[in-house]
Amino acid sequence: MNHDPRDGSGRGNGRSDDAAKTRADAGRRTYLLTGALTVLAAFGLSKIDLHVAPNVGWALPIWAVALIAIVSGPMVFDVEFRRETYTFTFSEIILVLGLFFASPLALVCGRLLGELVFLSVHERQPVRKIVLNLSAFFAETVVLLTVQQALLGHLDARQPASWIVALIAVVAAESVGFAAVATAVRWHGGPITFRSIVQIGLITAPANTSLTLVVCVLLDVEPKAVPLMAGVAIFLLVTYRAHSSLRQRYNSLSLLYDFTHLVSGARDPNQVLDAMLAQAKDLLRAERAEFWLFSGPDSAQRHVVDDLGHTSTDQRLPASIAAMVHQRFKSGGDAIRIERSPTASDERAILADIGAEDALIAPIFETETLIGFVAVVDRLNEMSDFVEQDARMFATLASHAGVALQNGRLIKRLHDQARQREHEALHDPLTGLANRVLFADRLRARFGEQDGVVDDIAIALMDLDGFKEINDTLGHQSGDGVLIEVGRRLIEIVDEGTTVARLGGDEFALLAPAGSSPAAIEETCRRIRAGIAAPIVIDEITIDMGVSVGIAIAPRDGRDVETLIRRADIAMYAAKAGHGAGVCFYDANRDDNTPRRLTLAHDLRRAVTAGELDVVFQPKVSLVDGQMTGVECLCRWMHPTLGMVTPDEFIPFADRAGVSGVLTAAVLTRALLAAEEWHSRGNEWGVAVNVSMRNLVDPELVAVVRSLINRSTLPASALTLEITETHVMSDAVRTTRVLEELAELGVRLSVDDFGTGYSSLAYLQRLPVHEVKIDKSFVQDLATGTGADAIVRSVLDLARNLDLWVVAEGVETPEAFDRLRQLGCKEAQGYYFAKPMSSGEIERFGLARSAVADRQPELVTSP
Ligand code: C2E
Ligand code: CA
Ligand code: CA
Repeated sequence: MNHDPRDGSGRGNGRSDDAAKTRADAGRRTYLLTGALTVLAAFGLSKIDLHVAPNVGWALPIWAVALIAIVSGPMVFDVEFRRETYTFTFSEIILVLGLFFASPLALVCGRLLGELVFLSVHERQPVRKIVLNLSAFFAETVVLLTVQQALLGHLDARQPASWIVALIAVVAAESVGFAAVATAVRWHGGPITFRSIVQIGLITAPANTSLTLVVCVLLDVEPKAVPLMAGVAIFLLVTYRAHSSLRQRYNSLSLLYDFTHLVSGARDPNQVLDAMLAQAKDLLRAERAEFWLFSGPDSAQRHVVDDLGHTSTDQRLPASIAAMVHQRFKSGGDAIRIERSPTASDERAILADIGAEDALIAPIFETETLIGFVAVVDRLNEMSDFVEQDARMFATLASHAGVALQNGRLIKRLHDQARQREHEALHDPLTGLANRVLFADRLRARFGEQDGVVDDIAIALMDLDGFKEINDTLGHQSGDGVLIEVGRRLIEIVDEGTTVARLGGDEFALLAPAGSSPAAIEETCRRIRAGIAAPIVIDEITIDMGVSVGIAIAPRDGRDVETLIRRADIAMYAAKAGHGAGVCFYDANRDDNTPRRLTLAHDLRRAVTAGELDVVFQPKVSLVDGQMTGVECLCRWMHPTLGMVTPDEFIPFADRAGVSGVLTAAVLTRALLAAEEWHSRGNEWGVAVNVSMRNLVDPELVAVVRSLINRSTLPASALTLEITETHVMSDAVRTTRVLEELAELGVRLSVDDFGTGYSSLAYLQRLPVHEVKIDKSFVQDLATGTGADAIVRSVLDLARNLDLWVVAEGVETPEAFDRLRQLGCKEAQGYYFAKPMSSGEIERFGLARSAVADRQPELVTSP
């Protein structure tokens, strides 16, 4: 048997780097194996009696043994048996004949000599393989002789015992040789199956050994009969070959079919390439298959597939190949067949440039355009070269590959486009952030993940403050610039794993990573507020942006996507309305969608228009002389079934229900009427009325105030409008205009809840405001050492410098009262003096204060 590593159709598919490494490894180990085999065989040889003469009167000389090896070498037959293909070789001929008719020395030397000639001249194997095969043959022959000599000193072709010894020796020898070569093939990635082992032990070796034994018996007993045997052998040979060539054609067809099937299903052009090359190599029994894909006028990518794997390199097109492409392929798709040692010089050059003995080369066209070519080179050890029929098949295969490649690229392109479209469908084109759909998807996925349990899901909704004005005044391009910058900052600020989305307009959203605590997400949102507050410069204009953030947390605030988003939205509106210093958690009390809220929203319109709302008055007191200086008018709603409803609860959705204009007009009317009465009796107290966000952007407000003032006998300066700081700031461009018009009417303007927003006093001074009301949260914290003290003091200092009047609200304790007086605050309001009361009560309160202050000024320190 001739074991040839090339017979293993190993087809490494690893990428070239890995393949190269594996190959280098395998190569090194193969040389080690070769060395080990040779050393062991040489040792075995020293133990053998090399000069035993054959039992017959004659002996085969070395050259005859070599000749037999050379002749039996090419005898290879594929035999199909029970749907398996068995490859028969006839190495047993030399082994058996050698055992009976040659001296051990002649057998060893003759065989190695013959195989050397066969492998190098006929097979043109590379040195590496010749060395490996020879060492295997060497070991094989030594094992053969060792086993034979151990079992029986002298063989006799007429003795059945000798036949059995010969059989055992042959099987043992071939097992060793086979194991050696199989190991090497394995290292190089080739397959060795159990089937091949069974084949040698049970079929090939016994069959060929028996056949050769018959010849031996004849040679010994009646040499004249040997030619008869030759007749039988030739008959068998011819039959075998006819059969195997039929077989081969059938195999080729089914391989071609497999190939077509494979490439037409392949999506990736590279997959098509790999499949094409591996199949071409097998189909045409070539040592190697190559694909050259033109990458420029004189360069190509060269893909090579051989037993050892797959490699890709960039390569300059050799002149010979460029010429071939121009002369032969421009016109059509026929394959070129170049036989061994061609006479034409251009063909010789081509073979030299691809490093081949012989080759089939076929062009690959992709819709009329020549994009490269495929080649299979070095026909494996067959008795024939590539033939015309192979060339035709190869051309068919190449054209299939061309079509498949084209389809593959088309599909890939469609695939890429689909991916692109999918990306577009899920992302905001302006900022590149996730869009509403993707945000909802991810959120839904999180709900799905946690079905029934455990971790919180936190989302935040963000809305830019005053973005509309930027858009209106600076144009959409600047608006877009702001949105892009905000998106960029968001990405920068949030923790890894956070989904940042733009839901539309100036609305953004976050989905916090799994496991983030409410405190952590609030912290992130505060950072976001600070990050976005940093000036944004667009076209050399500096823009100050604010953002209001609402947070909702599942499962606490909602158990599905829609509810959670809606509730974050409600929280966001609360933040916009000035709660939570710009970052609010969802609070059911502020949710319009609770049954109570829905009732209120429904009833509010009627209550406002039917005059069901009432007003109360809370005094403002001078800290200098204890007199009541004026009042704040606060509205009240006595709901028929729900009882007293506080303005904190209903004012926000008066804005959204569109009744805030009517509401404010009603409160203003009542406030001015009451004040008019006090004035008519000589009590010239001022009256303050709260104005909501919606009022400030309502063009009607100025007209309403103007007409009420005109109808009233009061001077305009008796009316103060209180505007919450965050409202002024969130829409500064628009509110400034309204404020200016109001100020022109002579009305006083006060900034309410001062300190909760982000405006600086210096900025406020540019607005036409007269007064700031320090928010009750600071006043209540006075004298508690929390820093509120410092804030109040600096507000007072700066306001003095800026000529702004300061009122402190929410004075509840004597400590706060004392501290405010120490700090030089001149006016205050709070439960310490009085709770809000009716118009009759407030007049009595005011008169009582005047009386006390008149008689006992020192008592002003108490209410
Ligand atoms: P505000 O303008 O800051 O009004 C002051 C609120 O603080 C009033 O609550 C008042 O009762 C309360 N207050 C007074 N002194 C103290 C104190 O010493 N301690 C504490 N903790 N609170 C004190 P009220 O009347 O419930 O009003 C709540 C808010 O509703 C007001 O806050 C104002 O923003 C809004 N509001 C009230 N009436 C109107 C109105 O007629 N129109 C509009 N647009 N908003 C109104
Ligand atoms: Ca107020
Ligand atoms: Ca206030």
